[in-house]
Amino acid sequence: MSLHQVQNLINGDFVSAATDRYDEVFNPSTGEVIAQVPLCGVAETAAAVSAAANALAAWDATPIIERARLMFRYRELLESSFDELSRLITREHGKTVSESRAEVRRGIEVVEFSCGIPSLFMGQSLSNIATDVDAEVLRHPVGVCVGITPYNFPAMVPMWMFPIALVCGNTFILKPSEKVPLTAVRLAELLQEADCPPGVLNVLHGGRECVDALIDHPDVAAISFVGSSPVAKSVYTRGTAAGKRVQAAGGAKNFCIVMPDADPETAVKALAAASFGCGGQRCMATSIAIPVGDIADSLVEKLASHAGSLSVGPTDTVDDVDLGPLIRQQHVDRVAMSVDAAAKEGAVIALDGRKAFAGDGFFLGPCIVDEVHPTMSVAREEIFGPVLSVIRTASLDEALRLSQSCRFGNGASIFTRDGYAARRFRDHFNAGMIGINVGVPAPMAWFPFTGWSGSFFGDLHVQGTEGIQFYTRQKVTLTRWMKPEGESHHDPIWKE
Ligand code: NAD
Repeated sequence: MSLHQVQNLINGDFVSAATDRYDEVFNPSTGEVIAQVPLCGVAETAAAVSAAANALAAWDATPIIERARLMFRYRELLESSFDELSRLITREHGKTVSESRAEVRRGIEVVEFSCGIPSLFMGQSLSNIATDVDAEVLRHPVGVCVGITPYNFPAMVPMWMFPIALVCGNTFILKPSEKVPLTAVRLAELLQEADCPPGVLNVLHGGRECVDALIDHPDVAAISFVGSSPVAKSVYTRGTAAGKRVQAAGGAKNFCIVMPDADPETAVKALAAASFGCGGQRCMATSIAIPVGDIADSLVEKLASHAGSLSVGPTDTVDDVDLGPLIRQQHVDRVAMSVDAAAKEGAVIALDGRKAFAGDGFFLGPCIVDEVHPTMSVAREEIFGPVLSVIRTASLDEALRLSQSCRFGNGASIFTRDGYAARRFRDHFNAGMIGINVGVPAPMAWFPFTGWSGSFFGDLHVQGTEGIQFYTRQKVTLTRWMKPEGESHHDPIWKE
């Protein structure tokens, strides 16, 4: 039986790619190949950009309320396809169905945010800024926008981008991760069903060659990227050197501080969910736990007991599994090697999930590595798997100082009942997204996703009003209407 070959969406039609280069798409729960994805190059990129560029003028001229109504219709279709989409994510990514459902919900919230575009798009004005002169600022779309997305959120991350870009009057080319192209195609099909005009949203599949061709294309105005830090940095550098607007979110190393006064049960459950949920493949996953003071032994013991009881297994056929597979076998091997390396450097393996499930898919259970030193590679590198390192500290300030030497700056959490400690943590931890008694402090659609340091390259983040700013440029108009020749000056008219 021949395998399903994923198609590009260009100018409103799903079409086969011209290339003969394909990659395999897997079901990580079984290790089975479920589709083939084209690795497009310059020719397909040119066709996608031309479709988006040709659709731009009419889409920009479409009344903003019509662009908002497209999102209202899209939202309804997403709701009615909620289960189907969630199961599709689970099939090609491997996360549990409940994790997929949470991801689709977060994505729909961005669509809901986008429905408010008539208010969000409003400009400003000031009458009589100088004698007889009025000033106004209006928003305009930036043009053809591109979104390059990672494998770990096949629906949510694309939906961080294209709904906002489209309601602002831009046209869009989505280049999803070649590891999870099926969800992106389904999201695009639903937008077509909602009556999106041809060329307004295009989907192009591929890897590095395709990304480079998109960045270099002179008709592309803006690039949104989410993925690993080295690629984020190079996309940012290449894109800005070509004069484009770029927002590039990268990898992370997220800390969770547990203060001695924290409720142990709450902290353990939240820490385990934040560290091992989605197999640790979240940019907001906790990767380092920092117990402060003498609670370390008991915290590690409770964590190991709780995490060791989580069920690991295939997610596409069984609904009540706690932890699904990782994306590829090579990734399982890489994550397992990071645990080996930590042990060689002197850390203590408190929980070893490397043999947690023996099946055909790509499995690795929760691992806890205790007595980690900040200089060890397990403490410095992004692992992106279910591995939690424990760095023991004597005080909150020691933990805060650790954040200053971390090259990432995505998220961090604290568990405490002490308001002063929470406030000091909020103000002095070196990261852009902070959780206080919240394990995964990922901002929802109405707020920006504010990574700092090596976790973000650019100025304006995705989501919220920063998303609107990124996808629009402003024009200020000064207008003078002078009094007609020969007329005397008109005083302001007030009631006599
Ligand atoms: P990745 O960097 O390998 O790939 C991301 C995208 O870039 C994909 O579309 C891929 O095709 C493309 N790409 C890969 N290599 C490229 C290259 N050399 N040149 C140009 N394009 C290239 O990332 P991934 O493995 O798919 O995703 C996991 C990473 O994404 C993790 O580092 C995670 O922390 C990060 N992430 C960050 C956020 C955030 O908001 N900061 C959110 C989700 C994921």
